Amino acid sequence: MTHSFLSVQLQKGAHLFLYVSHTILIPSNQKLQINYGGTIMANYTKTTIGKENRIELHEKLSLTGAEISINELPAGANVPFVHSHKENEEIYGILSGNGKAIIDGEEISLSTGDWLKIAPAAKRQFFASDISGITYICIQVKENSLEHFTAEDAVID
Ligand code: ZN
Repeated sequence: MTHSFLSVQLQKGAHLFLYVSHTILIPSNQKLQINYGGTIMANYTKTTIGKENRIELHEKLSLTGAEISINELPAGANVPFVHSHKENEEIYGILSGNGKAIIDGEEISLSTGDWLKIAPAAKRQFFASDISGITYICIQVKENSLEHFTAEDAVID
């Protein structure tokens, strides 16, 4: 174990010295983020998803602009409630299996490769088919919040 000081220049010209008990190797292309509590975090978070029935990535990855969940319904099962949203639109992608969504009373069949965008106010409910389960990703973002994306937001080094 190597002890070392890490000097961080703050905005007003002061220096914050943190005593760290492990050597931290920082690749030259990776910036450090210092939280108020003094913990040092890399500029990325990684998680691995196992076999859980529902995962919320905003929690696992501390997402700040989207909620992404991965959901699995076994054959014959359904989400046990109808819901809509106040501000967030949802993007659903079917990763495997078959089922259906009922959106504002309309039945829409779903199978692997299908994607749906649903406006916040729509009343929705998801069902697996009777003979196959369904696994889907749901991306929840604030409607009309997207400003710059892909090439417009990217900075090429
Ligand atoms: Zn929802």
